[in-house]
Amino acid sequence: MAAWKGIIHAYGDRMNISKSVAPVTLCEGNTPLIPLPKLAARIAPGAELYAKFEGLNPTGSFKDRGMTTAITQSVADGAQTVICASTGNTAAAAAAYAARAGQMCVVLIPDGKIALGKLAGAIAYGARVIAIDGSFDAALRMVREVSDRAPIALVNSVNPARLEGQKTAAWEVCEQLGGFPDWLCLPVGNAGNISSYWMGFSECPGPCRCDVCPRPSRKPQLLGAQAAGAAPLVTGLPCPNPETRATAIRIGAPARAEQALTAIRESNGQMLAVTDEEIFRAYHLVAETEGVFCEPSSAAGLAGLHQAVQNGTLNPEGKRIVCVLTGHGLKDPDSAVAEGADIQKVEANVDALLRGLNL
Ligand SMILES: *Cc1c(COP(=O)(O)O)cnc(C)c1O
Repeated sequence: MAAWKGIIHAYGDRMNISKSVAPVTLCEGNTPLIPLPKLAARIAPGAELYAKFEGLNPTGSFKDRGMTTAITQSVADGAQTVICASTGNTAAAAAAYAARAGQMCVVLIPDGKIALGKLAGAIAYGARVIAIDGSFDAALRMVREVSDRAPIALVNSVNPARLEGQKTAAWEVCEQLGGFPDWLCLPVGNAGNISSYWMGFSECPGPCRCDVCPRPSRKPQLLGAQAAGAAPLVTGLPCPNPETRATAIRIGAPARAEQALTAIRESNGQMLAVTDEEIFRAYHLVAETEGVFCEPSSAAGLAGLHQAVQNGTLNPEGKRIVCVLTGHGLKDPDSAVAEGADIQKVEANVDALLRGLNL
């Protein structure tokens, strides 16, 4: 098998980005589709359930897919500086790809609301990290204006090149499954990712080079999950003060709101709100039953699936269901330790250990 060289190398002929420069890549993509049979028995009985584990991308989240394309396009456009607003993962991805491209990277983050592993990445990759006393939404408004007024390329998912990269995950899912899943469940924050999956699935059977798709076949139904405290796409109401411990989806004014709602409508899917309690329950369950450690926000899709099965709007029987686990659990060590900490202390000798283990 030929070595994997990243998504532009694999799918660039089907991406609407400049081909005038060499791809800026960290060999992102090609993430595993992991079967979750034990979790299925708990939350979606009768389903063939999988995780598309996007936490295994080079900087630990799916954002790498959109960043290889956005940074490559920005290099083609001559940009020497890039900027983004971020709940964390976009910052880490932008910083890494900008470093590789020799660009300066500026990231705006909501002060105190970003997980430690994400901040660590952005700092390590040499970005200029600026914390604002405001939400992601405020940060996004600021960087949009800055990129209009200064020669700085904006690499948030309002940039169409981001979606060109992110849509490749849909094609990988089809290739890995040998056709479309019945349902695809994922968290929704700024709504770039759900829009990208729908683009990917919609472009799929035609130009798709996977010859295993039974065509014509039905595109998947999409289940988008927002955090209950940041769910404007569910309530239909503005959400000026988004609140959730799932910080990657702590967004009150999704930039791709219209496109996401169109994807839900066209796929005959559903957008629902999950509480932090439901999110954290799913977060622990997938780690403890299947050995897959994702960050809290990533578990929102699983929590949404569970809720939809329980309320009878999704019948899992005989269905192939893919949940996208958007980021790695190590991104947010504080959540893991605070939530699950049960560390027993014993003296440093074997007798004490055996006593402590009750053996
Ligand atoms: C960015 C992000 C999301 C939300 O994706 P959107 O495209 O903003 O909807 C979900 N989970 C994680 C881990 C993320 O980094």
